[in-house]
Amino acid sequence: MTHDFPASTVLGFPRIGPDRELKHALEDYWAGRIDRAALEETGRSLRAGTWRRLHELGLREPGALPSNTFSLYDHVLDAAVMAGAVPQRYRDAPDPYFAMARGADGVAPLRMTKWFDTNYHYIVPEIGPRTALRAVPDKPLAELHEARELGYATRPVLLGPVTLLRLAQAAPGAPAGFTPLDRLDDLLHVYGELLSALAGHAAWVQLDEPVLVTDGGSPAVRHAYRRLAGLERRPKLLVASYFGDAGDALPALAVAPVDGVAVDLTHGVPRHLELFEGRTVVGGVVSGRNVWRTDPDAARALLAAAGATAVGTSCSLLHVPYTLRGEQDLSPALPSELASLPSELASRLAFAEEKVAEVVALAGLGPKPGPLPVPPRAAGPVRTESRGAYEARAAAQRDLGLPALPVTTIGSFPQTGELRAARSAAAAGRLAPAEYEARIEAEIARVIGEQERLGLDVLVHGEPERNDMVQYFAEHLDGFAVTRNGWVQSYGSRCTRPPILYGDVSRPAPITVRWAAHARSLTRRPVKGMLTGPVTIVAWSFVRADRPLRDVTLQVADAIREEVADLEAAGIRIIQVDEPALRELLPLRREERAEYLAWAVAAYRRATSGAADATQIHTHLCYSDAGEVLEAIDALDADVTSIEAARSGFAVGAFGRGIGPGVYDIHSPRIPDREEIAARLRAALRTIPPERLWVNPDCGLKTRTYDEVRAALTNVVEATRTVRESVS
Ligand code: GLN
Ligand code: ZN
Repeated sequence: MTHDFPASTVLGFPRIGPDRELKHALEDYWAGRIDRAALEETGRSLRAGTWRRLHELGLREPGALPSNTFSLYDHVLDAAVMAGAVPQRYRDAPDPYFAMARGADGVAPLRMTKWFDTNYHYIVPEIGPRTALRAVPDKPLAELHEARELGYATRPVLLGPVTLLRLAQAAPGAPAGFTPLDRLDDLLHVYGELLSALAGHAAWVQLDEPVLVTDGGSPAVRHAYRRLAGLERRPKLLVASYFGDAGDALPALAVAPVDGVAVDLTHGVPRHLELFEGRTVVGGVVSGRNVWRTDPDAARALLAAAGATAVGTSCSLLHVPYTLRGEQDLSPALPSELASLPSELASRLAFAEEKVAEVVALAGLGPKPGPLPVPPRAAGPVRTESRGAYEARAAAQRDLGLPALPVTTIGSFPQTGELRAARSAAAAGRLAPAEYEARIEAEIARVIGEQERLGLDVLVHGEPERNDMVQYFAEHLDGFAVTRNGWVQSYGSRCTRPPILYGDVSRPAPITVRWAAHARSLTRRPVKGMLTGPVTIVAWSFVRADRPLRDVTLQVADAIREEVADLEAAGIRIIQVDEPALRELLPLRREERAEYLAWAVAAYRRATSGAADATQIHTHLCYSDAGEVLEAIDALDADVTSIEAARSGFAVGAFGRGIGPGVYDIHSPRIPDREEIAARLRAALRTIPPERLWVNPDCGLKTRTYDEVRAALTNVVEATRTVRESVS
């Protein structure tokens, strides 16, 4: 059989816009500054720009360009809409699509959660036994025609039916025991209609099934693809799996006569790939997850071993920034935030556009990238270090003089417009460093004053100096580089600029000490120092790929350990080391999780175990349905752990040390009332002794306004006073 599939392709491309055009248009639309038509126009021009650029870069064959990979908000939400899964309560909203994504008057949005083990978040579709599933092929068809008019024959990309159902949640009111996968046959009927609507317009359709790399699911896959491949009228089917090794699921897929598979070869060559001999095999050798150039020799060896008939990316390029153009050749006189990437680093990097060029070049002979400029420092053995026994620590910390049920916050206070403006002025050189620092100090003074007036027991400096809890540390550690415009979509309109960890990590100078010390000088109450933990720093960065993540994380832990020591030396007796990403890095396969958790815990303890018994170590995590990581959280051995509002079933009482289950949700502007907070505290006191219960919001306050923060914290403090009286 000849392979009419193109020789090279990408599974998807960033869509937020090279200059975050989509973000700005979305924000304008939500604020009522532009209408839906203007928003759609931005989408159209971004899609046209992407196809044009990919074509210029060499994806020229029919079917090489993907379509329907653009989204105004999220591709999983798009797939739900395409299958008719729009819950009734959103249908009358002025804009049902954005009502599902962001809520509308009186209707909460659909839940959002992490897309596999990436930092992208998707909207969780809701499917119940009676959800009226039906084919709505408008979007893929429209994009296909739009591209055709521009002269491009594209390959529509749809989220596959098994992944869609596995990611969906049961609609409210569904009977116990129902799971969305129970609707597989109905959904396959819908996909049958979608595929026949696309037949005749596109030669190939790509169905994305990343669940193939997770545990279980083969029977559903076999059933689904037998049925879809058996359709009378359909395009050729390319089933794409990514984010891991799909080996276990390949036999189930191979028995269905699908026309090809795209496999992620960055995790090695999956077993059973030979079952696809004679069919299209797209070898995903160019990583869509990291920012490093691909070694062409290694890539070619993998392609050969896999028997690949086409070259591709391991997954969509959604997870990397657009381009390196503009990151180099900047004037060295610019202040640090605008400094260019070191040239020896830039020559090793590939963002989305450069990766497309790599895919294309892998057919020819590209130059081999050299090793990273800094050879890795040998990693020490992984030991899980310990502090003194908790009881001894608690005794040594008694002179902190804290009341029962101490009230504190998670660290950040509102980031005002003036602060952000000052930061960009400083970065652009329009505000002298000394002037910028004076403004930060003034802000700290204001935050301390606010907290004293509110009557909080443990104060924070408020984190006004931080653009982001990871980037700020990356900018102050050696071994990291930051980009100017390397934005990656996190969800909807939200983007982050992940730092690049490329060298040996070390801390040339204290990072937070001056701010914490300044805060401490302004008050007699204890001030809590605020650090980001090593696991979170690596989880939210692009990390060098030439050494184990564990070793890199331990290096970061050493830097944080030095910072802890310097905070202690500056008289800071309470230090919080945040690890909101502890669960995020959890491997997709169950069998790999224990090993990960062991080194993650070891890294956290390396960062914190140098602290004296009299220093109180806090940690913070942004969730309470911690399930599998519960034991690991306990093993962090922090004196106090703050977590998101304890939902039913979370055994906070099982923690043998201090615990602060968030008493209200900071993600919403709603002000919690006193009675509700008091009720939560009383409920917590049923399983937690008063000397171990802490009172705090469930996360940082940076996205809230001062009015909201004042009103909410006033109620928190008063509710705590009432409950305190009843326990003492
Ligand atoms: N200390 C950080 C803050 O308050 C924690 C943020 C987080 O948990 N993501 O903003
Ligand atoms: Zn949090």
